[in-house]
Amino acid sequence: MTRELNKRTRAVHAGTRRSQYGEVSEAIFLTQGFVYDSAEQAEERFVEAGPDEFIYARYGNPTVAMFEERIASLEGAEDAFATASGMAAVSGALMSMLKAGDHVVSARALFGSCLYVLEEVLTRYGVEVTFVDGTDNAAWEAAIRDDTRVVFFESISNPTLQVVDIAAVSALAHARGATVVVDNVFATPVWSDSIAQGADVVIYSATKHIDGQGRALGGVIMGSREYIRKTVEPYMKHTGGSMSPFTAWVMLKGLETLDLRVRAQTASATAIANALEGHEKLARVIFPGLASHPQNALVERQMGRGGTVLSIDLTGGKDAAFRFLNAIEIGVISNNLGDAKTIMTHPATTTHQRLPDDQKAALGITPGLVRISVGIEDTQDLVEDILAALAQA
Ligand SMILES: *Cc1c(COP(=O)(O)O)cnc(C)c1O
Repeated sequence: MTRELNKRTRAVHAGTRRSQYGEVSEAIFLTQGFVYDSAEQAEERFVEAGPDEFIYARYGNPTVAMFEERIASLEGAEDAFATASGMAAVSGALMSMLKAGDHVVSARALFGSCLYVLEEVLTRYGVEVTFVDGTDNAAWEAAIRDDTRVVFFESISNPTLQVVDIAAVSALAHARGATVVVDNVFATPVWSDSIAQGADVVIYSATKHIDGQGRALGGVIMGSREYIRKTVEPYMKHTGGSMSPFTAWVMLKGLETLDLRVRAQTASATAIANALEGHEKLARVIFPGLASHPQNALVERQMGRGGTVLSIDLTGGKDAAFRFLNAIEIGVISNNLGDAKTIMTHPATTTHQRLPDDQKAALGITPGLVRISVGIEDTQDLVEDILAALAQA
């Protein structure tokens, strides 16, 4: 193909490898191992395997390779390594490049398991971690040192949807020679332009929008070919966090419809945020796409849209939040996000329950906060369901 194809076309076709049968839908190569034509061929492949030569599914597999090539193409990354979950991607991206004595600077507002990896695991192996307010560029500048090896953040934080300025933080990190690792779940590959803005490594939990239909856990690490093949691959293939071929097939089919789903979800999230802003029972409507979001100008520059998740803060606190959740008829009460089904979460009592109260307060996780991951249902149905539930809160 000589023309530069748009993301939506690449999401359907990039990375396709057809077998001798010429199947239309990607094949699942549900095999752990591969047969060699001769002892000599086996020997050669162990010396160096080409892009279409496989050894063992923990090292690579044709279905997994299709997924890796397709998602790398969407993100504009040189290469990708697919992992068993989003957390295998986060821990693998970091553990594969850090050693005792290294320094890491991370945003404080993190997904609970990410916080565990940075605060409990890395420090146990002698890595020093400094946490900063991710929205404060001056705090990043003050924390990044000459010996800082990695800068880590979620481009949009969960559940209060604070946005980190990828271009500004990357410039600060690169000035000190640090590698920028972005957990990009909330931006989605559809709205992300993270690598062009300066990120060196981009991570997704594929469990979220990429599957998008609540079926499988998965993740992916993307970056330069050198980093993926020389740093990530040896670590992942020997420590065991590789993606299974069946999961890769689910995720490939997810990528085919990702653009359609995320655009529809984003449009509905925007409509819901607009319908709810100023509602008498809400102290706050947090949505990066609203002009009232404190970083709306940054959001416009960084992603162009507000994404698929909003959070609302009920003035009546936990009781009102629970009444609201129990009155919702279309959305489901659960804790995933990016799904085709609208999912409602009460972070203070579920995903962020373990955080001490002062940390919850510092992150804006109030008793009345409800996170809404908007699905692909009819927009008007969702708006009416939410307004009716609020009336009962
Ligand atoms: C869900 C999530 C993860 C972890 O992904 P899993 O697939 O559940 O392991 C990491 N980071 C962010 C921002 C997430 O939302």
